[in-house]
Amino acid sequence: PADIFAPRRNSAGWDLTDPVTLAEIDAGRAAFAAPYSWTAGPLTPAERVGAAREVHNPARPSDVVGTVTEAEATMVEAAVGLAVDAQPGWSALGAPARATILRRAADLYEANAHEVFALTAREAGKTLADGVAELREAVDFLRYYAQEAETLGDRPARGVIACISPWNFPLAIFTGQIGAALAAGNAVVAKPAEQTPLIAFRATQLLHEAGVPAKVLQLLPGDGESVGGPLTADPRLSGVCFTGSTEVAKLIDRQLARTAPHAMLIAETGGLNAMIVDSTALLEQATRDILRGAFQSAGQRCSALRILYVQKDVEEKLLKMLFGAMETLVAGDPWALATDVGPVIDGEAHEAITAYVERMEAEGRVLKRLDGLAEGHFVAPTVVRVSGIAEIEHEIFGPVLHVARFDGEKIADVVSDINAKGYGLTFGLHSRIDRRVQRVLDRIGAGNVYVNRDQIGAVVGSQPFGGHGLSGTGPKAGGPLYLQRFTHEGEVGSDV
Ligand code: GLU
Repeated sequence: PADIFAPRRNSAGWDLTDPVTLAEIDAGRAAFAAPYSWTAGPLTPAERVGAAREVHNPARPSDVVGTVTEAEATMVEAAVGLAVDAQPGWSALGAPARATILRRAADLYEANAHEVFALTAREAGKTLADGVAELREAVDFLRYYAQEAETLGDRPARGVIACISPWNFPLAIFTGQIGAALAAGNAVVAKPAEQTPLIAFRATQLLHEAGVPAKVLQLLPGDGESVGGPLTADPRLSGVCFTGSTEVAKLIDRQLARTAPHAMLIAETGGLNAMIVDSTALLEQATRDILRGAFQSAGQRCSALRILYVQKDVEEKLLKMLFGAMETLVAGDPWALATDVGPVIDGEAHEAITAYVERMEAEGRVLKRLDGLAEGHFVAPTVVRVSGIAEIEHEIFGPVLHVARFDGEKIADVVSDINAKGYGLTFGLHSRIDRRVQRVLDRIGAGNVYVNRDQIGAVVGSQPFGGHGLSGTGPKAGGPLYLQRFTHEGEVGSDV
C-alpha cells in the first residue's frame, strides 16, 4: 500500500533553458509534425454513430491535424447507462487502487510528452512553454487527486459525473475534472471542447491504458447541441463539472434544476481580471508581469489580465516601458521555438476579437498595437484605453489589454468598481506599501489574488484556483476541498 504520508511533489517539468533538453524535445516532437495526423472519435463500448470532420491548426489552417468522428445525440443515453452500471464496481475498488491507476496515467502522460507537445501546438496553438506547463499541470492534477483520495478514504462517491472541458487547457483542465471525479470513485462521461478533441482522445486512451475501465470513463466528442445538451439533461447524472463561459454555466444550472435537481454543479467560468499598479511599484517588475498576464497564451486564459489600473503619477513611465516590452514579443507559429504569442483558437474567435479591436480603433482608444500576421488566426497584442472596468461590456478572450488611470487617493473606489462588476477570478496588485496591500486585499472579492507578481499559472496543490461571484461556484481546482465535492459525506452513525 502507498504511504499516504509521503510528500507529494509536483512535476519537475522540462527545463527549456537547457539546450540539451530543448534539442531532445524538438527532435522528439518532430515525429508528430505535419503531415502526421491523428484520428479520434467516441471512446465508449456503446454503439458508435456520428460523422467525421477535420481538425485544423489555428496557426496554419491548411495543416490538417487530424480527423474526429463526433458523437450523435443518441449515443449519450447509452453511454450514461453503461456508466451507471459500471460505477459501483469502480467505487468498490477502493481509493488506493484508484489512486494507483491515476498515478500510472500520470506516468504515461509524461512518457508521451513529445506527442503532447506536438498536439498542444498543432491543435490548440500553444507555444512549447505553454505545452510544457499544460502537461505539468495535468500530471500534477492526477497525482494530487490520487493523494487526496487516499487521504479522504472510502467515502461514498456520487455516481456519474459529466465533465465538460474547455479548449484553452485541453489537457490540464480536461484531466483535472476527470481525475478528481474518478479518484473519488465516480464514473465519467466526458465531452471535450469541439476545438480540441484530438488531445482529449489521446489522454482518454492513456487513462484507459493505465487501468480505468472503458465504461467508467467514456469520451463523447461533439458540440454543445448534440452532446452537451443531451448529456446535461440526463436525469441519471449525479453531477456536472464544467469550465467555460458564465452564460453556458447558467444554462447548465437551470437544466439541472429541471431534470436532475439532486446533482451537484462545479462551474469555473470567466472573469474581468484587474491589476492595480500604484506609484510605489517596481515598474520593471510590473511591466514583466503585465506582459505575461495579458499576452501569454495569447490572452486565452480565464486568469489573464484584462484591465490594468495604473496610478496617474507613474502612468506615462509604465506605459512607455510596457509598449517597449511589447515590441520584443515574437508573434507567430507556436511550433517555432522563438514564438511568445501564438494564434487564437479559431476563425470565430479571431473575427470576434478583431471586430472588437476595430471598434476600439474607430473610437480612438487603441494606444498600442503590434503589427499583424498574415496567415492563421492571429490577433496582434493590443492595448486599449478605458476610463474604468464599468466601460468593458464583456470578457475579450484574447490578447487585448485595457488600461485605466486612477488618483492615488481613489484606490478604494477602484477596488469597489472592480468588485461591482460581479466577477472575481484573479486580481493582481503591485505596491510596496504594506498597509495599502493589506487594505486592498481585505476588500477585493477575487478567488486568486497575487501581490507583486503576475496573476496567471496557478500551481496545483499550492495555489488552488477558482473564482467568486460570476466567475465560478468553487470549490477551487487543485485545492483541498475540490475532491470532497465529488463524494457524499457518508452515513453518520451507521454500523455497517
Ligand atoms: N489555472 C489557470 C491559470 O491560473 C487558468 C485556467 C483557465 O484559464 O481556465 O492560469
